[in-house]
Amino acid sequence: MATPPSPVKRRSRGALASRSPLRAAARMEQQLGRALCIITGASRGFGRAVAKAMARLVEPESVFVLVARSGDELRTLQTELAASDLDVRCAVADLSLEGAPENVVRAAKEAFSADIRHVILVNNAARTMTVGNTETVELFDAGPKGRGLRAGRDLGTGEVVFAEASFAAVVFDSVFMQVCHNCFRQQAALHRCAQCQFAFYCNRTCQTACWDEHKNECAAIREAGKAPDENVRLAARVLWRLHKDSGIVSDSQLISVEQLEDHVSDLPQKNLQRLETDVQSFLEYWSYGKKRHSVDYISHIFGIIACNGFIMSDQKGLRSVGVGLFPNLSLVNHDCSPNCSVVLNHGKIELRALGKIPEGQELTVSYVDFLNLSGVRKKKLMERYHFECTCQRCSQHLKDDLMMAAAEAKPSAEKLKEVTAVSEDCLEKIEKCHVEKDFHEVVKLCGECLAKQENVLADTHLYKLRVLSVASEALLFQRLFPEAAAYAQRMVDGYTKLYPCNNAQLGLAIMRAGVVHWQSGKTELGHSMICQAYSILMVTHGPDHAITKDLESTRMQTELELKRKKATSP
Ligand SMILES: [Zn+2]
Ligand SMILES: [Zn+2]
Ligand SMILES: [Zn+2]
Repeated sequence: MATPPSPVKRRSRGALASRSPLRAAARMEQQLGRALCIITGASRGFGRAVAKAMARLVEPESVFVLVARSGDELRTLQTELAASDLDVRCAVADLSLEGAPENVVRAAKEAFSADIRHVILVNNAARTMTVGNTETVELFDAGPKGRGLRAGRDLGTGEVVFAEASFAAVVFDSVFMQVCHNCFRQQAALHRCAQCQFAFYCNRTCQTACWDEHKNECAAIREAGKAPDENVRLAARVLWRLHKDSGIVSDSQLISVEQLEDHVSDLPQKNLQRLETDVQSFLEYWSYGKKRHSVDYISHIFGIIACNGFIMSDQKGLRSVGVGLFPNLSLVNHDCSPNCSVVLNHGKIELRALGKIPEGQELTVSYVDFLNLSGVRKKKLMERYHFECTCQRCSQHLKDDLMMAAAEAKPSAEKLKEVTAVSEDCLEKIEKCHVEKDFHEVVKLCGECLAKQENVLADTHLYKLRVLSVASEALLFQRLFPEAAAYAQRMVDGYTKLYPCNNAQLGLAIMRAGVVHWQSGKTELGHSMICQAYSILMVTHGPDHAITKDLESTRMQTELELKRKKATSP
């Protein structure tokens, strides 16, 4: 064989100016002469694009060896490329299997001849991609769902599959003065950026850590005279980051941000109008030197944010405080009964296994709230993420019956219909008072609504659970602990019948109920619920999360009180 050129593939930081095969190919001389190109993972996406780009660079009669696991798509590409006077051969092989690399080498040897000037290997096989150089996940073709991630080895319950820092993230407009723009913690007395007067930080350390990401934004806000809304700020941050990295995919990032789905073509008219407004305000704000972008490209970035943006909550998990892009997380597909969940911990998201996951199984998270009927979930998924959920829970309508069940007293169909309508009406009023923080009125309305639901709706009925949830929160706010505890208990009883055991929302609900029981003097019951919540949060949040740590100290306190009680009782 001729001297093989260095393979164009992913390298460690700094070793090569561009780690993207497409860019590397574009940088090469326009005329490569007759070449032998071996491209793995060639059937779809990136590998396919590289193959097409290469085809334009080489001389006619060059030889392409395309390697992929899926044959059909590979043959389509073969036909396309062969039309431009190339000798295109296919090797259908799963490179993770024994003997497969040898087959590829054999195909390459057969294709080689003396007049070939270059041998180019583009090793793009998804098998070789891992996150953060760990073996926990791998990218794969998830069929109709497109790309997906699967377990690269057996994973244990509560294991962190991967942690990922945001590619770009911004604090919501509504809390920009209350949350640190670097670590997203909610704090009193934040330190303000003296230049733009818009960004707030815990301290100098957070400000310094964020400066690299903030400096362009800082200048743009000063120039514009005010900060634009969160969507525009995020789009600009994404672009500044892309310019800085020149679109390079780092070793720990499986996909470049620009390759994420945007679904702009699926948007209904009203969303398109919104998009147009966003693009307009973006262009006014964008003052990045000479760099100009087309409206289409900016729309693409907004589309990516709309279907991949991850809502971030504060350190207590109580409040949504910002939105960020996490490219690896975007590769995890949805399931209404997922095997993983996501939590923000110390500024990074963690994908955590909710149970044991065998090697090769697809990793999934839920994009929507668990406590919705399958029809509602499907509608939400279609509107926001543009796909039809075909998961088992949706197709078999699992738990839908419980979520709208009638009470054991078996009310008439008419009565059920009447109370359902009344509840909907009530919930609307309750929500309005809740937003206005009129907790006294909230409690009154909830009490009236629950009285009507009594003996008509089951304890697992969604409308009953919603009323119980708001009522206990409002009572807690008024420091009426025994009353709040009673409602919280009924809510947890319902939740337990609906949620799978290791669910973050269930864990948090049990935690709150346990703490209220303790505050209302029921130490024993409170302690047992706190222990139960602790075991769930150890899986969904992990031992280092601020919420788990707080709960741990509460647990020690309740344990101590119980011991003291036992010691003093006769
Ligand atoms: Zn901070
Ligand atoms: Zn600033
Ligand atoms: Zn589903």
